Amino acid sequence: MKIEHILRNNYRIMNTAKAHEFRIKCPSCNNVKQKCYVNCIKNVYRCWHCGESGSLYKFIRRFHSEIDLKSLELEKTSMSIKSQFKTPMALPEGFAPFFSTERESPMLDACVEYLYERGLNYDMIKDYGMGYSRRFAHQVVVPIRNTMGKQVYFSTLTIDKKLAFPHNPSISDNYFSKGDILFNINRISPSTVVYLTEGIFDCISCVKSGKQAVALLGKEITDNQIELLLSLGMTEIAICLDGGEVTSTYKMAKKLKRYFDYVYICLLPEGKDPNDLDLTDYLLPYIEDLKLYLPKDKNKDLLNKFKSIFKKPLT
Ligand SMILES: [Zn+2]
Repeated sequence: MKIEHILRNNYRIMNTAKAHEFRIKCPSCNNVKQKCYVNCIKNVYRCWHCGESGSLYKFIRRFHSEIDLKSLELEKTSMSIKSQFKTPMALPEGFAPFFSTERESPMLDACVEYLYERGLNYDMIKDYGMGYSRRFAHQVVVPIRNTMGKQVYFSTLTIDKKLAFPHNPSISDNYFSKGDILFNINRISPSTVVYLTEGIFDCISCVKSGKQAVALLGKEITDNQIELLLSLGMTEIAICLDGGEVTSTYKMAKKLKRYFDYVYICLLPEGKDPNDLDLTDYLLPYIEDLKLYLPKDKNKDLLNKFKSIFKKPLT
């Protein structure tokens, strides 16, 4: 179903100077001046009266929950599921999952010992389908799946940096790249907040402590990655980059605030990553233009005071 069709069925539409932009009565503030602009190319909306804004996924979810998000046909622009049409990056030649019955990996002991040291157990290694390929010696190959659970990309975890052959999987624009995927996205549901971490181990340690998490495989979030989260109906996001990444965190929070109802930030102390700490101690709601500086442990009281100001319980 096209967004224009949904608008025509539900609103009295005013045209704007742009062919794919419409003005409607804002379903949030109901201001009679029809100050809510819906852009069907950028797939975003904004009310200039009350400030309500976001992606068209959010618009439908919030104001037209009777419509199935999957039936929504958005324009294939920067904020659409462009990456759906890319070619999956096949697992490397000779890939075999650890503990597979057919083949015992020659690196099994070293790899598994490394993963155990990093806090994984047998079930998790099997569950994530981690394995080994001769092409990436001294590395663990981690399959990465799309929202439907299909493997579309892979990443590697390096056991020994001195011995590892560098993994550079970019082939061409037609293939899935790092910016089109989120590690663990196939296990996410919109019921609670999802933590965005940099690395795979950070993500897994969040999952181990009962949180929902995905790994960005970097310090930035792309439009395609945002799209993946929106397509699942996510409304609450917690940014949890490595310690000291204050600028990257705020940059990301500012971007995400346009699309998600609740954005939290975790500013971890320098040198720490999500594996080391109880993240709930560091979780704060993001408020635009209100900058908080890197909390040191001694500032905990201040943080708690700050948190108590907000009525929304932190999960
Ligand atoms: Zn409004």
